[in-house]
Amino acid sequence: MNRFYLKPYKKIINTILDFLFPPECPICQNPVSDPLSICPECFKKIKFITPPLCEICGRPFEFEVYGKTVCGKCLQKKPVYDQARSAFLYDSFSKQLILPFKYSDRTDLAPLLGQFLIRAGAELLDQSDLIVPVPLNRWRLMKRKYNQAGILGKIISKKTGIPFSPFVLKRLRATKSQERLREKDRIKNVRNAFIIKNNKLIKNKKILLIDDVLTTGATVNECAKILKRNGAKAVYVLTVAHTLK
Ligand SMILES: [Zn+2]
Ligand SMILES: [Zn+2]
Repeated sequence: MNRFYLKPYKKIINTILDFLFPPECPICQNPVSDPLSICPECFKKIKFITPPLCEICGRPFEFEVYGKTVCGKCLQKKPVYDQARSAFLYDSFSKQLILPFKYSDRTDLAPLLGQFLIRAGAELLDQSDLIVPVPLNRWRLMKRKYNQAGILGKIISKKTGIPFSPFVLKRLRATKSQERLREKDRIKNVRNAFIIKNNKLIKNKKILLIDDVLTTGATVNECAKILKRNGAKAVYVLTVAHTLK
């Protein structure tokens, strides 16, 4: 049956599906009215990042600042990427949204996370020419079956019309998971881990890198380095969550 034929019935089908499987909050499993939403109680507990924040890495400041300001961490060592923004803080609460999406096949959460990303990254999206996800190594991709950053990148591209290129950046070797490594070891772990497959695609372009969590920035910095070395004009980073370390 072709989908155009089904279109007039889509609303009815969705109503029946909602009746049979009422949409629930992905965190507490309480019923919600919109399948693409979080219940108000959980929504309140997510620490969305709002200004004032570091002009470069997007880390929120806990005090009032005037004008554009850069955090101590970025002042000490300026990142290779130009600017990063994240939707919310990574903590024990928001983990309940990120981890199932990343590891447990909850790809149905992608449209919701995509909405948060578009809102948090509006400023960067306005300037970007190409969306590129941080890639997984081939073996990890086989194990996990999908690249969570790729799914988000595709959704943002569809909503904004900015072209999406999932294969321009490739992860050459299987790197250890960054999660348990210290900052110094994280930098070493991802050094020279990426290559560019087609540098014509990125030449003079402003690239928007997509990833799930920004921690030390070691991975996105390494990606930014290779993208810039191959002619990218600017590299922005948009992630779902930001870890304050
Ligand atoms: Zn909830
Ligand atoms: Zn900063």
